Amino acid sequence: MLAQNKITVMTHNKTEQISLPRTLINQLLTHAQSGNGDEVCGFIASVSGEPIKTYPVPNIATPANKRFEMEPSAQIDAIKIMREQDEEIFAIYHSHPTSAAAPSQTDIAEFNYPGALCVIISLNIQGVLEIRAYRIIKNQVFEASIEAT
Ligand SMILES: [Zn+2]
Repeated sequence: MLAQNKITVMTHNKTEQISLPRTLINQLLTHAQSGNGDEVCGFIASVSGEPIKTYPVPNIATPANKRFEMEPSAQIDAIKIMREQDEEIFAIYHSHPTSAAAPSQTDIAEFNYPGALCVIISLNIQGVLEIRAYRIIKNQVFEASIEAT
């Protein structure tokens, strides 16, 4: 059950610090678990730089257990709704069902949102949520530390 899941937020010596509400972290975990072995993906929207909600988008990659590709019309719809509500794209999130919460070479190469964070939820360790955030700028990866609020 969700309430029994231990939320482990990894923090090392990172330059950028971000805050994520625990309710939002729980939504990410629930979505990741619903993937049943496949990666899930979506957006985290913010207002004035504060992350406030998630926009799940179907993953149409094949196979979907090792990578993700947002379903284009749902992706466009989500961006449209965010614009209408004066929200920004805070992060692109996706899950790693069986690997650590580190970006793959494909994740790095295909990341197209320089203004947003890349958030990865790992289900690699049973019952423990590992969530990490990265800035990916021109194939360079910078990890940000996450504070659960
Ligand atoms: Zn990935």
